[in-house]
Amino acid sequence: MNIVTKQDVFSKENQDKIPRSKKKLPMRSRTSSRPEQTNSSTNNTTQPQPATNQPSSTTSNQKQSSSSEERLTVYHAGLPKHNSDRPQSRPFGRSNSFSRSNRPQSSEVRSNQTPFVKREIVPSRPLTTGEKKLRIIPIGGLEEIGKNMTIFEFGQDIFIVDMGLMFPDSDMFGIDYVIPDVTYLEDKKDRIRGIIITHGHLDHTGAIPYLIEKIGYPPIYGTKVTLGLVKQRLEEFSLVGKNRLIEIDPVEDSIKLGVFTVNFFKLNHSIPGAVGLEIETPVGRLVYATDWKFDYTPADGQPADFGKIAGIGSKGVKLFFSDSTNVERRGHAISEQRVGETINEIVSEARGRIIIAMFSTLIGRIQQVFNSAHKNGRKVAVVGMSMQKAVEMAISIKAITVPENTLIEIRQARNLPDNRVLILSTGSQGEDRAALKRMAHGDDRNVNIHKGDTVVISASPIPGNEKSVNDVMDEIYRAGGRVVYNRDMDVHTSGHAHQEDLKLMLALIKPEYFMPLHGERHKLMLHARLAQSIGVDPNKCIVGADGQVIEITADGHVQTTREKVPCGYVMVDGLGVGDVGNIVLRDRQAMATDGIFIAIVTIDRSTGRILTSPDIISRGFIYMRENETLVSEARQLIRDLFIQNYRRSRDDVGEIRNQIRDGLTKFLKEKTEREPMIIRNVYINKPSGLFRSCSQLAGFSLIYRWIRCKSSLSRIM
Ligand SMILES: [Zn+2]
Ligand SMILES: [Zn+2]
Repeated sequence: MNIVTKQDVFSKENQDKIPRSKKKLPMRSRTSSRPEQTNSSTNNTTQPQPATNQPSSTTSNQKQSSSSEERLTVYHAGLPKHNSDRPQSRPFGRSNSFSRSNRPQSSEVRSNQTPFVKREIVPSRPLTTGEKKLRIIPIGGLEEIGKNMTIFEFGQDIFIVDMGLMFPDSDMFGIDYVIPDVTYLEDKKDRIRGIIITHGHLDHTGAIPYLIEKIGYPPIYGTKVTLGLVKQRLEEFSLVGKNRLIEIDPVEDSIKLGVFTVNFFKLNHSIPGAVGLEIETPVGRLVYATDWKFDYTPADGQPADFGKIAGIGSKGVKLFFSDSTNVERRGHAISEQRVGETINEIVSEARGRIIIAMFSTLIGRIQQVFNSAHKNGRKVAVVGMSMQKAVEMAISIKAITVPENTLIEIRQARNLPDNRVLILSTGSQGEDRAALKRMAHGDDRNVNIHKGDTVVISASPIPGNEKSVNDVMDEIYRAGGRVVYNRDMDVHTSGHAHQEDLKLMLALIKPEYFMPLHGERHKLMLHARLAQSIGVDPNKCIVGADGQVIEITADGHVQTTREKVPCGYVMVDGLGVGDVGNIVLRDRQAMATDGIFIAIVTIDRSTGRILTSPDIISRGFIYMRENETLVSEARQLIRDLFIQNYRRSRDDVGEIRNQIRDGLTKFLKEKTEREPMIIRNVYINKPSGLFRSCSQLAGFSLIYRWIRCKSSLSRIM
């Protein structure tokens, strides 16, 4: 497998110290408010225990559970779901008698699809002193956007949070996706207790189908919407049924993964079902919150669980991981409800058709669009494959409710008056083959944009897509439509917290150590400074890098180590996973930049003479018919180079080829200031007709590679 290594994580830049903030306010006195951590350290010298000040009876239950050969790995507190007296934080040394199987099931979906009780044989053996460290290994998601994946390891137990993909950079020609490198886990398959997926976005789920086999099909835990999307993706790869998908309810459930106990809390994001994790470990409590924001009026009516978050914070948090995506933005992100109201205003005022383009994972917003259409007497037609699949999935798991007689086929929309139609579409990023671009160009076989249409782009361009979005907006105007986008009106909001919400979360969690996630290096640094501004000790802010192992020792000390595990880019290109590496990418870059120049020389072995004028094939470099002088000079140069070098080293064809390549490179650079990829083949034989055909075929196959590379480029752009 080819793995493209990122910059050395231990480079000087990565060891920058975070400057101490002048505005530092002490958050609390650690010694007085956290006696439990002292206890924890003491306990840990004898037996791994979660940092706790719980009553001794529950602690002893926990001990019994830890040493049990057959461990109940999924359970909940057995409390009624809507009990207003229910405490917001629960003791975590629970008895296994609180089985999830005792709880009334909340829906048919859960009862049909979810194995509520999972019994798993966990090897029980005493841990050695050397193993009493928690190892946290971010495999992806640091100093980059995408391929989020973090490993938590203690002794014999490993669990994984998220397994996402990254979209390729514009210079990764022909690459479909980049996925994490799981080499570290390949010989530890039997120790992986599960994968927890925080939410359904591709940068957290997209690599599952590519990697799940390599890590031995561990069970996957997630909320209903998240698992709906994971299942859809597994279906595309015919992998459904290979491993268990275990649905969790973030309000009620708690899962046990070896020595780890994971509780959940609801968060808001641009997709329903996003959760944060409270991870109880033998060395302290961790909180993991990637991709979140606070929205008091979200589209699904379920704000983040502030009570539970505050409860977790009051128990004492050793290390907190948080989302850095929007750390540069001041204030708060606007609410999804505001977006819904704006869309409704537009729908109610428009006289012609409405076309709304957005990401298909914005399930809450899709619901708002259906509601608005229904309220204003419009029917909704869904176009674009991913949008159709998302709506289908959301309806099937009851994540959205479509008002009666509102959803129609796109063909039916053609027979309705314009003011009765709303089209929900993909293509908010101006993607080449997406529905919005087709409609704007007049290329869609069902519906095209015409005068009087209002197109709402309910998204902001991802960096790098600005030009495509501008182009599609221009096309819409040319076709007679009008565009509304997020610079005009509040038709989009980000799913990631702005500064004030990040601070509020830090104030609620009150972590001892802090580690920013989900962002490039500068965002991680800014987030660390933000944490310091509200009182986190600058020496306890960890700005990590992919692959860098972070350890929490038995005495509760968090340290970054010099150990680095493989964390390079694994490229997915068509059916190939990991077969494209640096060398292939470099060739593609060279071909895409200055084209390709192929010289084929065929000589007669008996006489040592060139049989024909050297064949030259060129693509993407010059138009040969208009550059005949250059081509004939190149031919002459090839002849001269061959004759000179054949005399010197007639038995070393490789050397002759290299000399021709070097001479041609110099010549073409001088003449054109371009450096095409040069392929030179010297065939020493008496050619038959078949032989000549073969040599030409070799040239054409290289051209085919080049054309494929260029078409991939246009797809990316
Ligand atoms: Zn993300
Ligand atoms: Zn996300």
